[in-house]
Amino acid sequence: MAAKINLRTVRDLDLTNKKVLVRLDLNVPIKKGVISDDTRIREAIPTIKFLLEHTNKIVLCSHLGRPDGAPDLKYSLEPVGARLAELLDVEVIFVNNYQDEPVDQMLNTIGKNQLVLLENLRFHPGETSNDVEFARTLAKGIDFYVNDAFGTAHRAHASTVGVPELLAADRRAAGFLIEKEIEALSSVLADPAGPFTVVMGGSKVSDKIGVILSLLNKCHHLVIGGAMAYTFLKYKGVNVGSSRVESDRMDLVESIFRNAEARNVKIHLPVDHGCASSFTETAKREDIDTPEIPEGLMGLDIGDKTIRAYSEIVRTSRTVLWNGPMGVFEWPAFAKGSLAIAKAMTECNGKTVIGGGDSVSVVNMAGVASQMTHVSTGGGASLEFIEGKILPGIKVLQK
Ligand code: AMP
Repeated sequence: MAAKINLRTVRDLDLTNKKVLVRLDLNVPIKKGVISDDTRIREAIPTIKFLLEHTNKIVLCSHLGRPDGAPDLKYSLEPVGARLAELLDVEVIFVNNYQDEPVDQMLNTIGKNQLVLLENLRFHPGETSNDVEFARTLAKGIDFYVNDAFGTAHRAHASTVGVPELLAADRRAAGFLIEKEIEALSSVLADPAGPFTVVMGGSKVSDKIGVILSLLNKCHHLVIGGAMAYTFLKYKGVNVGSSRVESDRMDLVESIFRNAEARNVKIHLPVDHGCASSFTETAKREDIDTPEIPEGLMGLDIGDKTIRAYSEIVRTSRTVLWNGPMGVFEWPAFAKGSLAIAKAMTECNGKTVIGGGDSVSVVNMAGVASQMTHVSTGGGASLEFIEGKILPGIKVLQK
């Protein structure tokens, strides 16, 4: 973990009648103009409400999807503006062309119960390239900058780093969501009660090597599932059939085993599997009762014996951190292992933390998110933070 982070928050700012630019994570799933999950919009509400109590000169901005630096209507934030208006009971003035007509003048004229929302930042290439001109456009006439988008805090973009760097340090602050994430992740990881179990799954060990090596310094058990488990099993000489394996990254697995041994961390691997003969949603699940997987089959979930063993470790731990599903949880036949871990986490008496990404979808699917100590809203940002990296979007918000 990085050194203690002392954030400036919205409570530290004298906002009365000041112009505030607020970077949010309003990146919600939208199909044909309809929002299918408004969780991220709801999570932004406490900070916006707080700001509205102090000023009526507020500009909100966010990205949505990956539009590749050019306007693409399927990634428009307009439906998000409509949802914000409903949830906040305010008028949301949606601004498309803020590059040619910066919004600072408009802020002088808007009334109480009105907000400005900018169109998707990523319609402009300058956002992701952290272009200083684009940052200047966003910052024009602004008194304060507030960031509440934890999910993009690991990216040095114009709206997360470029804009705050144009303002004095005492004019930048974190919103309540970033504050909550940093407090929750720091407090769990600073001094985790043992036994501390890390459950890692998902597709690739190479994506998570940094965070795994860092957590080996703190945890007692490393429980491995998902596709990455097959790279571990293969390294151990176990036949894994046609399961997904990162054959060229065996060096990473070796370094994990070496570090775990040196630190007395026990690594747990699946002893049975839910398999299929093809990587398709409708493939029939075949349960294989051994660590080995026969040729022609691939592991797509952990098996029943593994579920029992992993659940017991989780239940009896005093701190559990989970990132990455135990199988292809998106397909009902292969969701069993991931849902079982979610349930076991509700039966753990210690602290339970979901470290972002797809495991958040799993606990939502299992209906147990509210029973976790903390469910992080970041994916890559959570992992980098847990690894101990200083996130560029957080660094600029420190006192
Ligand atoms: P990650 O983003 O690295 O956490 O990976 C999540 C993805 O890994 C999900 O889309 C899962 O469907 C996928 N996944 C999990 N287990 C397996 C597996 N055994 N084989 C292939 N993909 C998997």
